[in-house]
Amino acid sequence: MTTVVEQLIEQSRRVGANDSLVLWGGGNNSLKTTAPDLLGRSIEVMLIKSSGSDMKSIVAKQFPAVRLDYIAPLRQRDDMTDDEMVDYLARCLLDPGGPRPSIETLLHAFLPVPSVLHTHADAILALTNTRGREATVRKCFGDSLITIPYRQPGFRLSREVAEAFDAKAEGIVLMNHGLITWGDTPQQAFERHMALTSRAEKFIDRHGAPASAGESQARLKPGLHSIAPALRGALSKDRKVILEFDDSPEVLEFLSRPDAERVTQIGAATPDHILHTKRFPLFLKGDAAPAVEEYLAKHGHTPRIILKPGVGMWTAGKDARAARIVHDIYRHTMQIITAAEALGGYETLNDKDAYEAEHWELETFKLTLLPKEKELAGQVALITGAASGIGRAIALKFAAEGAHVVVTDLADPSEVTAHIEGLRRAISIKMDVSSEESVERAFETCVREYGGVDVVVSNAGVSSFGTLDVLPLADWEKAFAVNTRGHFLVARAAIRIMKEQGRGGSIVFNASKNVTAPGKEFGAYSVSKAAEAQLCRIVALEGGEFGIRANMLNPDAIFDGSRFWSDEMRAMRAQAYGIEADRLPDYYRNRTLLKTTVTADDVPEAALFLASSRSAKTTGAMLPVDGGVREAFPR
Ligand code: ZN
Repeated sequence: MTTVVEQLIEQSRRVGANDSLVLWGGGNNSLKTTAPDLLGRSIEVMLIKSSGSDMKSIVAKQFPAVRLDYIAPLRQRDDMTDDEMVDYLARCLLDPGGPRPSIETLLHAFLPVPSVLHTHADAILALTNTRGREATVRKCFGDSLITIPYRQPGFRLSREVAEAFDAKAEGIVLMNHGLITWGDTPQQAFERHMALTSRAEKFIDRHGAPASAGESQARLKPGLHSIAPALRGALSKDRKVILEFDDSPEVLEFLSRPDAERVTQIGAATPDHILHTKRFPLFLKGDAAPAVEEYLAKHGHTPRIILKPGVGMWTAGKDARAARIVHDIYRHTMQIITAAEALGGYETLNDKDAYEAEHWELETFKLTLLPKEKELAGQVALITGAASGIGRAIALKFAAEGAHVVVTDLADPSEVTAHIEGLRRAISIKMDVSSEESVERAFETCVREYGGVDVVVSNAGVSSFGTLDVLPLADWEKAFAVNTRGHFLVARAAIRIMKEQGRGGSIVFNASKNVTAPGKEFGAYSVSKAAEAQLCRIVALEGGEFGIRANMLNPDAIFDGSRFWSDEMRAMRAQAYGIEADRLPDYYRNRTLLKTTVTADDVPEAALFLASSRSAKTTGAMLPVDGGVREAFPR
C-alpha cells in the first residue's frame, strides 16, 4: 500500500510531466490525513507542497504537514494580511524546521475534502483570459463548474473559494488564475483535473480558428550578432543579465501575426507568471538601447522578454536558468494568447490587479532568500585552449565563481563542461584559434547562447623547440598562427561584441614568462609570445575608452595536465639543463625565489583577479605566476 506522501508524489510527477499544466514550480497539491503530534496523539494535518518546489522533481520532505486544528478557526476571520498569514502558518507546521508551505495553503486547507490539486493550466487560462470570460467558461463547461472572479491570491481568495465550494461541482475555476479540483484521493483529483483541462482543450480546438499567422515570413537573418550584444548591454544597466534566444518556427509564426504588437501588450496570463515575466514584453522595432530606455522609463524596470518579428524572442534573467523560466512561460503565454484571441479576444488582469501581483510581497519574499551573488555572477566568460591544463582550471574556477563559461579548444572540451553543474551554465565549442572562420563562429555561438561576452581568457598556445639555424619554417609559422594570429582573432571578435554591449570587458592573455625572459632554443615560441604581449598592450590602448581592459598572465613551468610539456619537450629541456627528465619539476622549483612548484591550479586565482572587478583599475599589466623568477621580473 502506498503511503499518503507517496500518493502525493505520484500525483505531482504526473502533473509536473505535463508542461501545459504547470511550469517551473507552479501549481500546488495537498492531502489531508492524520499524524502523531509531539506527544504521540493522532491529529488532523494536511500535507502541502512547499513554496517554490517543483512538481516534476518533488520529494517527500517538500511536503510539510500543517495542523488543521490550528487552521480551522481562521475561517472565522474577516481578513488577514499576507505577513500575518505567513507568520501564522509557520506556527502550524508539525515539524517546526520544515520547509515553508505553499503560499496557497489556506485555499487547500479550507476545502472540506481530502485531496486538492491546483494548477495554472494553459487551456483554463485561455478560457478565462478572454473578453466575456464568464460566458466563455460557461459555454465550455455549462454549470458543472464553480467560477470565482479574479482576486489577488491570499486570505480573502481562500475564504471566497471555501464559501463557493460545492461538493457536487466538478471543480473551481479561478478567473485569470487557474483551476482547482479535488477528490478522495490524489488520483481522483488528478483525473478530474485532466478531464476538465482536456474538455477546455477540445473546446479551444473547436471554437478557436487556427492561428491566423498572416503571411509566413521569409526567415530574415539580420545580424543577430549585432542585435543581441547591444540588447544585452542595454538590459545590463544595473546588473548583468544572461539572454536566451528562440527563433523556432512557432515563435516566428506567433510574431508574424498582424496584431502581434497589440496582443503582446495586453499582459500576463496569471499572477503566478508575472513575477518571472513581468507584465509586458518589449516589442522591439528600432535599435535596442533607446527602446530599452523608453521601456524602463515607462515601466520602472527593464524588460524580461524582447520580441522582434522576423528574428525571434530573447528572454533575460540573472542567470541562464532564470532566462529559461521566462522563456518557457512565455512560450505558453503565446499559445494562451492565440487560443484566447480566437475565442473572442485575449484579456487579462487590469492595471491594479497586475500591479499588486507584480509587487506581491509573499512572492517577492522568495527573492530575498536567495544566496549572495558570486563574484562572476551574470558574466559570460569565454576561455580558449580550455580542454586541459591552465585553460581547464580557469574554466572550472570561473564557473565556480558564478560565470557562464564558454569552453573552447581545438580538442573536444566537453569533458570540462560535464563537470559544471547548473542549467545552461557552460557550453563547449571546438575552435581553432588560428582560423578566422572558426573563431567567428565560436563567438557567434556564444552570442546566440548567452547574448554576449564579458570576459575572454585568450589562453591557447603552441610551443616548438630548436635553435634558429635548424628551426623549420613550418614550426615558426605554426607558432605565429596560434600564438599571434590566434590571440588577434580572439581579441578582435571579443572587442567587437564588447563594444556593441557598451559595458566594458576584460581580456586576459596567457602570455608566459618567456615574454620577459625568453629562452634559447625557444625562438618561435618566445618571438610569437612577444607579439602577443604587444597585442595585449594595443588592446589596452584601444579598449581603454570603452572600458575594455587587457592584461597578461605570466605563468611558468606548469607541468600538471599541460599539453605543452609533452614527453618529448621534457626530454629536450632536461637534456638542455643536463639533468634527467623526471628531475625537471625539481629543477624548475629550485630555480624559483620561493622554492615552490607552480601548478595549473595556481593560475586561476590570478586569472580571476584580472577578469573581475577586483582589478577594475588595472590594464596593460603583467602578472607573473611563476614562484618568483628574477630574470622574468616585468620591466
Ligand atoms: Zn495559483
